[in-house]
Amino acid sequence: MSKFWSPLVSELQPYVPGEQPKMANLIKLNTNENPFGPSPQVIEAIERELNDNLRLYPDPEGQALKEAIASFHDEIGIKPSQVFVGNGSDEVLAHIFQGLLKHERPILFPDISYSFYPVYCGLFQIESKVIPLTDSFEINPEDYRQPNGGIIFPNPNAPTGRYLGLEHVEAILQANPDTVVVVDEAYVDFGGTSAITLVHRYPNLLVCQTLSKARSLAGLRVGFAVGNEELIEALNRVKDSFNSYPLDRLALAGAVAAFEDKQWFEDSCNGVIRERERVSKGLENLGFEVLPSKANFVFARHPRRTGEDLAAHLRQQGIIVRHFKKPRISEFLRITIGTPDQNGALLKGLGKILEA
Ligand SMILES: *Cc1c(COP(=O)(O)O)cnc(C)c1O
Repeated sequence: MSKFWSPLVSELQPYVPGEQPKMANLIKLNTNENPFGPSPQVIEAIERELNDNLRLYPDPEGQALKEAIASFHDEIGIKPSQVFVGNGSDEVLAHIFQGLLKHERPILFPDISYSFYPVYCGLFQIESKVIPLTDSFEINPEDYRQPNGGIIFPNPNAPTGRYLGLEHVEAILQANPDTVVVVDEAYVDFGGTSAITLVHRYPNLLVCQTLSKARSLAGLRVGFAVGNEELIEALNRVKDSFNSYPLDRLALAGAVAAFEDKQWFEDSCNGVIRERERVSKGLENLGFEVLPSKANFVFARHPRRTGEDLAAHLRQQGIIVRHFKKPRISEFLRITIGTPDQNGALLKGLGKILEA
């Protein structure tokens, strides 16, 4: 606390990101980064952009990236004007909260979901009502039939990894024609189907995605949203009242290249999916209950050991996973899928801990 702080800042409860330890040789399975790395074409595109043009501001609209995203989805017929791009999907989400979810009524989101949502509610002074997941940690669309100022949920959900089928997403959209429904698809490329296919039919649908996970560019900070032009216009209005140039020249060049290299993207997602199935089986063989995951992580608990205890023992072996000290999920570990070697080390490490 300081007398210099505004009353709002004094009351904020900021988001706490997963740690980025400085130690070398750690097996880092705590922040859902993609172990396979970005496409070499991304690196080349960024290197080409390292020139005197850096003295010039970047394109404030990020038009080349919007076109690359639209043409990636050309079979759905997305126009560049239906795309919004921002400095990581966290920034896109912030604009969404401020520009589309702040109304008279509280917004709805699951009790167990991305922990940034309540933080944005605090920053933008938005009322919220959390909707408990079912006992099996699923979203029940029936629970979202009540007056609200907007709805947001990740799909697949984080940190559970569970995917909600598009027919259920549609049920939520149909029940809420007068408010915006935001589907945060940070992990959708690891086996889910994107709700982007529905944007033409639902003017209240906004889909948010990131290049941090499936495209392995967490360090570049690029996210985007796809939806009806009216919704996109709201985000542009917020952006141009906040920061006209959210994406720098390097990020724009790298992100365009990431959408052009479809092969790398598909191979990388398939590699993660293959390893996810192997890690899930391995954990089950060790006695874990593993929630069915369509993400690049698994959420698992052991009947005999707490999540906190297992995470601490893994750490002693130089393996970092994520544990949330929160009601309902404190027994669980969230384990990011790593390289085959890292996953092998994780399963071996857990085996040792459970034997002892
Ligand atoms: C990782 C993640 C994001 C943020 O992605 P960035 O683009 O890196 O800001 C948003 N939503 C969910 C559910 C995530 O897991």
